[in-house]
Amino acid sequence: DIKNVNNDYFGAYSSFGIHREMLSDKVRMDAYGQAILKNPSLLKSAVVMDVGCGTGILSQNASFVTRAVMYYLCASLFYRGDNAFLATVLYAQAGASKVIAIEASEKMASVATRIAKDNGLLSSKSPGESTNHGTGVVEVVQGMVEELDKSMPIEPHSVDVLLSEWMGYCLLYEAMLSSVLYARDRWLKPGGAMLPDTATIVRFGKAATSLPFWENVYGFNMSSVGKELVEGAAQIPIVDTVDGHGLVTNAAVLQSFDLVTMKPDEVDFTAIVELEPNLSGAANSLTDLESETTWCFGVVLWFETGFTGRFCKEMPAVLSTSPYTPKTHWQQTILTFKEPIAVTSGKSNVDGSAAVGTEACPAARIHLRISIARASHHRDIDISLETAGV
Ligand code: SAH
Repeated sequence: DIKNVNNDYFGAYSSFGIHREMLSDKVRMDAYGQAILKNPSLLKSAVVMDVGCGTGILSQNASFVTRAVMYYLCASLFYRGDNAFLATVLYAQAGASKVIAIEASEKMASVATRIAKDNGLLSSKSPGESTNHGTGVVEVVQGMVEELDKSMPIEPHSVDVLLSEWMGYCLLYEAMLSSVLYARDRWLKPGGAMLPDTATIVRFGKAATSLPFWENVYGFNMSSVGKELVEGAAQIPIVDTVDGHGLVTNAAVLQSFDLVTMKPDEVDFTAIVELEPNLSGAANSLTDLESETTWCFGVVLWFETGFTGRFCKEMPAVLSTSPYTPKTHWQQTILTFKEPIAVTSGKSNVDGSAAVGTEACPAARIHLRISIARASHHRDIDISLETAGV
């Protein structure tokens, strides 16, 4: 039931390994760091809500005070050049006036409280803080954002900036976006900012599979293993790092979300799209260059979230999980077709007799229909995929 699902989910976030992985993801940290620290006119004196604060790293960034800037100014006299963190902090002129950091995991809420306290960033008003340790502005609240009223009633529509790192594999796995939209509709001021404020899922056709590896393993035919893997992959998406060379179609947007205006039920969607072969990026071994045909085994999905100029007027930022940019802990998500489809980047030689998308008659385009929806009472998502070569 839903309670057990949530217990498992927040239980997973109670271990430090997952937080270390997120904190070590430089692409992620840089994008959020840039959005928060290089847009002082957005954050200055703002009331910020951090939905799912984890260790509190984003809340603490949002609350950087002049004291920290002075400290780093002095430090920068000694460490010049390539320290990006130092550089970003230098741009932070002043911090938020209040940061409400919400965390459902009991363990992480207490960790975030301790860390904020240790760094002098905890507000003395933090619930459970009877002694006046705090000089800072961060208030950590334990509980699900959906149940916040029980632990700390907040004036509706009183938040200037809604900050969250809610993205899961394939963007929507974990179904945390719904919680962010809930917080938006209840606490964000009209015209208030969201960080990030856009999210896009991009898709590509993919050539490589693990089949060739299993065909010849030190001279032995293990192709039955390859077949089993492909059959399994057609049931369950694979999260892995994809090599840009194995991609055999153009990239195109599957779905775009405007987090400011989207309705909560738009989290579930169906997209009908076409994949156009583009074999220039494909590895030679996979492609018969003469005829420019190859097999397409599935689609690769990844996402980008934007901190656009709408709110980040001084310095917009993008967090990309593309196979062509530095790796993130989200990697990419691979959906495997039940049957591979032959594609050609030349004109398809359809003569009406052979089925399109076969070796004899490669397809010039692949029609795709992809639905992604939250599984009922679950953190999981259901993905359905239909294909046709045309
Ligand atoms: N902001 C942190 C952690 C991001 S991971 C960072 O950037 O490092 C997402 C966190 O949100 C997890 O710690 C998870 O426990 C918490 N979370 C997820 N859904 C939540 C909800 N509905 N209410 C409160 N916290 C939630």
